[in-house]
Amino acid sequence: MNLNDTTADIGANLEDVRRRIAAACARCGRDPADVRLVAVSKTYAASAVREAAACGQRVFGENRVQEAAVKVPQCPGTLEWHLIGHLQSNKAAAAVRLFDWVHSVDTPKLLRMLDGHAAAAGKRLRVLLEVNVSGEISKSGAAPDAVPEMLAMVPDLQTVEVRGLMTVPPVAEDPEEARPHFRRLRGLRDAWAAEYAVPLEELSMGMTHDMEVAIEEGATFVRVGTGIFGARTYPEKEA
Ligand SMILES: *Cc1c(COP(=O)(O)O)cnc(C)c1O
Repeated sequence: MNLNDTTADIGANLEDVRRRIAAACARCGRDPADVRLVAVSKTYAASAVREAAACGQRVFGENRVQEAAVKVPQCPGTLEWHLIGHLQSNKAAAAVRLFDWVHSVDTPKLLRMLDGHAAAAGKRLRVLLEVNVSGEISKSGAAPDAVPEMLAMVPDLQTVEVRGLMTVPPVAEDPEEARPHFRRLRGLRDAWAAEYAVPLEELSMGMTHDMEVAIEEGATFVRVGTGIFGARTYPEKEA
């Protein structure tokens, strides 16, 4: 596996991203402590993660299980790892070993398998349900009308905690184009949390170019890669 070193000034970039988060929170009256930064290290080598960790970053995101299997053991054991890319159910066991959070649960089968593996391993696993709010065909994530079946499973889960929702809006030049999708995710969350009595307190939405809009719409996790590590030089594939 070809993981890249980075020439980015990770410390300066992290400060810049944290400043952007703080400024967005100030504009909409939110506490910056309620917005957690997931540093998306996909395609970059463990050395980049270690450098970010040395600058105080503790939460990291990866989109492929195989890549994380190489990288995670080369990083400090104190870090928290989030899987943000599509997960095939045949990799659920490996994902449970490597990750603390999975943002991309999109089928009842995957939710059941993660719960089985986490229970067997005695591991606490927190998950988000990925919702395809735009209806864009190429996107992963469950259609909104497929999510209630997963919410109805929550009382029967052994170890997995369903903590909220995640979305990836269609790619767009203007960050404002993401706003209706972020707003829709929040609206679905409010409705489902009430109907299914599941708190769903986390909203994972917003990346490097649209994190401010996501924060204004209620994001509690922003997933930022290029803004910290620099532009990626090979296209990331799905897990
Ligand atoms: C790569 C990726 C990100 C980070 O995107 P940047 O534009 O580099 O900040 C966020 N979320 C998901 C699901 C990703 O795959």
